Order: sequence, then C-alpha cells, then structure tokens
Amino acid sequence: RAKEKGRNNFQYYSAVLTKQASERLKIQVSLLQAIENKEFVVYYQPQIDIVQNKLLGMEALVRWKKEGEMISPAEFIPLAEESGLIVEIDRLVMDMAIAQFSQWCKAGLEPGTLSLNLAVKHLESDFFISMLRKKIKKYNFDTKRLELEVTESDLMKDTQKVIRDLHAIHALGIHIALDDFGTGYSSLSYLKKLPIDKLKIDQSFVRDIPDDEEDSAIVKAIIAMAKSLGLTTIAEGVETQSQREFLYANGCESIQGYFYSKPIPAKEMEAFMKSFNA
Ligand code: C2E
Ligand code: MG
Ligand code: MG
Ligand code: MG
Repeated sequence: RAKEKGRNNFQYYSAVLTKQASERLKIQVSLLQAIENKEFVVYYQPQIDIVQNKLLGMEALVRWKKEGEMISPAEFIPLAEESGLIVEIDRLVMDMAIAQFSQWCKAGLEPGTLSLNLAVKHLESDFFISMLRKKIKKYNFDTKRLELEVTESDLMKDTQKVIRDLHAIHALGIHIALDDFGTGYSSLSYLKKLPIDKLKIDQSFVRDIPDDEEDSAIVKAIIAMAKSLGLTTIAEGVETQSQREFLYANGCESIQGYFYSKPIPAKEMEAFMKSFNA
C-alpha cells in the first residue's frame, strides 16, 4: 500500500510540476508576444527631497497592459529575468521613459532626475552600454539627470565585468543607486569597490518605523553608514507622516512612497509636477 501511495504521490507531484512548468512556459510565450506588441506602459513615482522640500525626480516602473488589465512587475519580472526577456523589456522601458522625460525637460516642467531599474543581467554583454550611449545622444540627454537602480542582491553575483561596466556607466555622468538596500548583505569594503552614489533603503525596514526598535536602529545605521561613505539616501515605501518625520530627523535626504504618490501614468505625473513645483 505504501508503495502504491508513493507512486500516487509521485504522479500527483509530477502532474503539479508539469502544470507549473507549462504555466511558466505560457507566461513566457505571452511575454514574448507582449514585447513584440509593445504591451508595456511606464508609470512614474515621484521622489521627494525632504530637506529642500522639492521634487527630486521620479522612478520609472513598468506595467504590463495585458488585455486591458495592468499587471504588476512583481508578477512577471522574475520570469523575464529567468528567460532573459528582461533585457528587451528594459530596453522598451528605457525608450519610453527617456522620450517622455526629455519632453518634460523641454517643456520646462523641471522633472528633476529619472531613475531606471536595471537588471544586472544587461551587463553580461557589451550591448547595453552602447545602447545607452546611443539613447543619450539621440535625445541629447543630460546624463546628470539619469540614474540607474541596481539591486543589492543582483550585484552580489558580481563579476569583474559588472564592476568595470558600472564604472564605465558612472564615467558617463550617470548616477548609480543601490536598490532594496539592506536585503543583500553587502559589506562596507564591497561597497567601496563600486561607483555607487545613493542607497535606497528597502521598504521592509521602513514599514514599521518608528515603532519597531530594531527596524528603527537599522534605518539609522544605514543612514549613518551612507553619510560616512559620502552617499545619499532615499527611503522607499514611505506611507505615513510619522515615517517621514523619523527619516527626516535621522538625516535621510529623500523619500518615495504612497505618502506622496503611488506610481502614476505620465499624464498624472505631469499634473503632479505642475502642482508640486508650484
Ligand atoms: P523597486 O524598484 O524596489 O520598486 C519599488 C516598488 O515598491 C514598486 O513596486 C512600487 O510600486 C512599490 N511602492 C512604492 N511606494 C510604495 C509604498 O509606499 N508602499 C508600498 N507598499 N509599496 C510601494 P512595483 O512597481 O510593483 O515594482 C516591483 C519591482 O519590479 C521593482 O522594485 C523593481 O525591482 C522591478 N521593476 C519595476 N519596473 C522595472 C523595470 O522597468 N525593469 C526592471 N528590471 N525591473 C523593474
Ligand atoms: Mg527601483
Ligand atoms: Mg526598491
Ligand atoms: Mg523592491
């Protein structure tokens, strides 16, 4: 009986696995079609300089507009990374965001800086940097206005090439921010090797400040460490006035989160800029 049961279990699990595998394959195929049909939309989330109380810039966050429904990147970015399709998606996002942002600059809307999320996978080939150079030239883009966000955990898989490429990008005048900081166990000596300008404090540490003592201590330590390394800080996922006050009191220069605005479509971002800058 045990044997029979074992076999049934096996059949059950293999059926589940096959189902999962075919689900993933299905999503990958539809992602591929989505890339061909350009079914992606860029949303923008304001980043606020809380020292000067002005708009610092914005982060571009991709959405998949699938049959009228907006799908969050949390649902497809991991699969896109696994399959390498992320490179194509980021290219589309970069195209759309740089074009839109350039238009805002020309219109005199003072959009500040543009942050793009970059999968470190791009740096496996030389294609990315040459594409970046072309885009900058095409739009005559002021590179000081551009920032690339790389996640800490992604960078841990570093190679000499990744470090070299980040230096090359930095040499173009582009800023580099370490996203989801605090979740990837990087050491101080490691940080010193990289051309990083900014630490983005991960929202998991921000959520329970100021009530949670441990998280409060971590956030303070990150800000202090950033200062000693000459880096600026931005906290992500800020939703409340008390979080904002805690961050301000402890020397965090900028914040991003629902407290100011959710990620919003370009039209709404334009309205936000107009009212915030007024
Ligand atoms: P991330 O870069 O760390 O972006 C922050 C995420 O937190 C965003 O989720 C944003 O919508 C969400 N968020 C912002 N403020 C708040 C808040 O106050 N409260 C809460 N609860 N959440 C907040 P989103 O847009 O779903 O993006 C998820 C992740 O997907 C991003 O994390 C980023 O790693 C990745 N991603 C998004 N767009 C792109 C892209 O164009 N390329 C690449 N490679 N990755 C992207
Ligand atoms: Mg980001
Ligand atoms: Mg983040
Ligand atoms: Mg994140």
